[in-house]
Amino acid sequence: MALPSPFERLIGLLKRLPGVGEKSARRMAFFVFQAPDGYARELADALFSLKDALTVCHICGNLTDRQPCHVCSDPLRDRSILCVVEGIEDLLSIEQAGVYDGLYYVLGGNVSPLDGRDIPSGVLERLLDLVNERSVSEVIIATNPRVEGDMTYHAVLAALRPLKTVKKTRLAYGLPVGGSIEFADRVTLHAAMDTRIVVQDDGR
Ligand code: ZN
Repeated sequence: MALPSPFERLIGLLKRLPGVGEKSARRMAFFVFQAPDGYARELADALFSLKDALTVCHICGNLTDRQPCHVCSDPLRDRSILCVVEGIEDLLSIEQAGVYDGLYYVLGGNVSPLDGRDIPSGVLERLLDLVNERSVSEVIIATNPRVEGDMTYHAVLAALRPLKTVKKTRLAYGLPVGGSIEFADRVTLHAAMDTRIVVQDDGR
């Protein structure tokens, strides 16, 4: 049975969200329809303001509604440590776990030759400038424990090579191989952050 077109339209849009299939989209659409007056309007307003008010921090690449973001402007954060992540989702997961109090740098991509993807141009150069300008003493390269994350790690490490006095570390135990930071639980992220190791860069 065909559903009325407003339902079909909403279901079609909801299905494009990650992890949402036909059934879930249908349940969500019915929920919105049956919810008290005002919910749909508030939901629509929240969606609009997400696009209108949110931007990325011009320093670290975090999602923010002001410049610089709340992490970069927080005087209580440890400014001597910089944690490099592939995406904003990784930053949010580490923040939510509460296992880290330094600053971040979001690459906004990873190295994946098979998919034709690479770290966006200029990003590694800006990282180098940032580490220099802010007298950062340690850079944690927190890429995901899979092939693309490993290649990304090597690209970041190579970019940081001129900075001889800066300690470079990478996340270690805890993260499952083939998994992702975004979906790791708090305990796993804690172990990975606690057991990060100093890396040797011999230039090869
Ligand atoms: Zn920031």
